[in-house]
Amino acid sequence: MAAPRDGLGAVETEGNGGRSESSGAEVVLSSDPATPAPLCPHGPTLLFVKVSQGREGTRRFYACSACRDRKDCNFFQWEDEKLSGARLAAREAYNRRCQPPLSRTQCVERYLKFIELPLSQRKFCQRCQQLLLPDDWEKHGEHQVVGDVSLTQLKRPSRLLYPLENKKTNAQYLFADRSCQFLVDLLSTLGFRRVLCVGTPRLHELIRLKASGDKKSNIKSLLLDIDFRYSQFYMEDSFCHYNMFNHHFFDGKAALEVCRTFLQEDKGEGVIMVTDPPFGGLVEPLAVTFKKLIAMWKEGQSQDNSHKELPIFWIFPYFFESRICQFFPSFCMLDYQVDYDNHALYKHGKTGRKQSPVRIFTNIPPNKIILPIEEGYRFCPLCQRYVSLENQHCEHCNSCTSKDGRKWNHCFFCKKCVKPSWIHCSICNHCALPDHSCEGPKDGCFVCGELDHKRSTCPNISTSKKVNKYCLHRRGRRHMKMSLKFYRAVRKKKQRKSNKMKMETTKGQSMNHTSVTRKKERRETAHQYLCS
Ligand code: SAH
Ligand code: ZN
Ligand code: ZN
Ligand code: ZN
Ligand code: ZN
Repeated sequence: MAAPRDGLGAVETEGNGGRSESSGAEVVLSSDPATPAPLCPHGPTLLFVKVSQGREGTRRFYACSACRDRKDCNFFQWEDEKLSGARLAAREAYNRRCQPPLSRTQCVERYLKFIELPLSQRKFCQRCQQLLLPDDWEKHGEHQVVGDVSLTQLKRPSRLLYPLENKKTNAQYLFADRSCQFLVDLLSTLGFRRVLCVGTPRLHELIRLKASGDKKSNIKSLLLDIDFRYSQFYMEDSFCHYNMFNHHFFDGKAALEVCRTFLQEDKGEGVIMVTDPPFGGLVEPLAVTFKKLIAMWKEGQSQDNSHKELPIFWIFPYFFESRICQFFPSFCMLDYQVDYDNHALYKHGKTGRKQSPVRIFTNIPPNKIILPIEEGYRFCPLCQRYVSLENQHCEHCNSCTSKDGRKWNHCFFCKKCVKPSWIHCSICNHCALPDHSCEGPKDGCFVCGELDHKRSTCPNISTSKKVNKYCLHRRGRRHMKMSLKFYRAVRKKKQRKSNKMKMETTKGQSMNHTSVTRKKERRETAHQYLCS
């Protein structure tokens, strides 16, 4: 989850299903294979098209796949722009300079030396986010350094490192112990022996911790993550520096082979992929990446298994359900609420201020997934799945309809269940928040004007177009890391009493390596959390 592309700042509003669409840029996925995308320090860039008031501009451009903030990666090139040889060479040199100073092998060598040191010599520089060998001490003399780094600490790097919370790139939101424990137990109950962790460093370390402590659950784990700091703590076969928005392995073919071998071991039996991407919005490129990982797994399958699917847990907010199911129709959303440590608003309902909107999307049949009764889940025999206690079975819809963990009400006019805060408006002829403005600008579809969907899902534009586009900035209020301009526009449109402001302090500092992790202590922008 966690957002960047808008991270935990991503928020759904209650009005109109949170689907208003603003201007921004959309990704064009089906770029011509004959013209490969230019490279930024984060691998192949993505092709975008500007969209204003629902209309596409004509000139397309390439931009970074991983960083939405130009401060983190300022790559920009018009699709039809021709670069001189000198500029191309300069770019290549720049891309090289942005790579981590140490190779993967060098990191491993350093780690092996580090664990040989006596406890008193094992130091970690908090400023540089780096394990130090005695030769490095002097250079970090003025920095804040943690001493006596124990093996236990080394096994939990997500606690030693600080989370990179900058929403527009890393959006590192770490699982709360309860959720992480739940996931590990679930994976083990379901009988998995290998877990491909894509952007889930804390899950990765907990799996390994369990495996080393308990011979019975000897689950293996491979972490793919863009956060290079983790390469200090793992061997080549358990961490790859990876960009999940373009399926780019920073260490080239060797790393790709590590991943392939992992997926194809045991003829692909017993493996699951678990991913918790930044959820600012790039669902489409993520889906493309996951399909590539699925294809890699499939190559190792025998012919008669061709109908089988790679089991997946994709952890993402519930309001992305339709987008995810568009790409993965066999996925369903579980009611389990995933909690995070470093996000006050996204903790469990009973302790945090707000129930977490983050769910698990999976192609594993939901009746196989037991949710903990003691945390407020029950089995619905009619739906054949575990649901939140508050999620009541609606006899009219014949399903447990709530998505957000609250009790929803059935509306007989709309013939469906709606959020408890909505009422049926006879002027608009649909359900909405009581304070919505009936004559206000209708947030309908730009293509056909209908209110029940947006341009991106309009049945009146061709499927290829529909599926290939995605909004780089935010789909309106849904993704709330706001530019000031956007913020004001939204404010004007709907003034909500219940808006809450939250300030976050973020440390965005790391090993001074890539442009992603270069930032010094940084204040996060204030962002709004719209709630009911
Ligand atoms: N809840 C998870 C962490 C999810 S936060 C856990 O506790 O294990 C999102 C993760 O995705 C972070 O670890 C972040 O470094 C990683 N990430 C962000 N952008 C990425 C990208 N482009 N490619 C790969 N990983 C990325
Ligand atoms: Zn980039
Ligand atoms: Zn230092
Ligand atoms: Zn209903
Ligand atoms: Zn209604």
